[in-house]
Amino acid sequence: GFDDSVLICDEVDPILNKILEDNGLKVSYEPEITPEQIIEKISNYNIVIVRSRTTITKEMIDKADNCKIIARVGVGLDNVDQEAAKTKNIRVINAVEGAMNAVAELVLGLMLSLARQTARGDRAIRNGEWLKKELKGTELRGKYLGIIGLGNIGKRLGRLARALNMNIIGYDVVPIDEEFSKEVGLMKADLNTLLQSSDYISIHVPLLDSTHHLLDAQKMSTMKKTAKIINTSRGGVVDEDALYNALKNGTLGGAALDVFEKEPAIGNKLAELDNVILTPHIGAQTKEAQSLAANVIAEKIIQILRG
Ligand code: NAD
Repeated sequence: GFDDSVLICDEVDPILNKILEDNGLKVSYEPEITPEQIIEKISNYNIVIVRSRTTITKEMIDKADNCKIIARVGVGLDNVDQEAAKTKNIRVINAVEGAMNAVAELVLGLMLSLARQTARGDRAIRNGEWLKKELKGTELRGKYLGIIGLGNIGKRLGRLARALNMNIIGYDVVPIDEEFSKEVGLMKADLNTLLQSSDYISIHVPLLDSTHHLLDAQKMSTMKKTAKIINTSRGGVVDEDALYNALKNGTLGGAALDVFEKEPAIGNKLAELDNVILTPHIGAQTKEAQSLAANVIAEKIIQILRG
């Protein structure tokens, strides 16, 4: 076994603890730890593990003199200062496999819910209203789904949506997987063509300087009036003010958001609108995704320690 010490800063699936301890590592499980406490004791640890609650800052990394690995039990690495880690020779790892199916299934559910307005119907019944007439929906079959970012999640979504006989349009900044393209009959397009042609637009890019407000007012103005945007990537990728205006003015058909510019998104003005579905960043919140991510991270850590 190994004798490294591990600090787990967020709530993670217990399987992670177990695998690491079975391999001899000393694990401190502190899912409520504060940033101040991390700064105080990070130098005692060789491995630091986070999920979504904790952000690993440069200030923390500056003190992390014994740290070899920072692990995120999830996909996006925007809550770890990767530049700072690099200068200290700390490996930063994540678990892309975990969220793939969970997020893709959430998107599918959100699209179906947008098409039939199930959330609105539910709200209305609870308020004593029977909106049968108003809630004439549409079907996904035959509609055009534009997927921006054909990485792990984007491709999984493409395959699921194809099974519902949607037409899949794809845009990425890197060449798109050929096998996937064939399988779903992908129509490759530039971003503008995708935006103009799609009934549903789902975003699966990382949050980078180049993807900040990738969908802004100008881009939204080129979409179909009935188009619906689904964002489960990161809040900053869609300009929320522009989205609010477009939805309110009826120049866009609807939106479903799992991620927000500011989280928790309590009091977000998009909640005023009926053609919007909001979920509290639950993309990877499934038993299966959490346990898969925990297993993947445990395996990766042990591989690295073995050298
Ligand atoms: P991935 O790295 O497998 O794929 C991302 C793809 O986006 C890549 O193919 C990349 O080339 C492409 N891309 C980058 N910049 C682009 C641009 N400007 N235009 C078009 N494409 C671009 O990542 P993934 O695992 O599929 O995750 C995608 C996103 O989902 C990430 O932002 C991640 O943080 C987010 N995510 C959210 C949740 C959630 O809980 N809602 C869970 C997991 C992941």
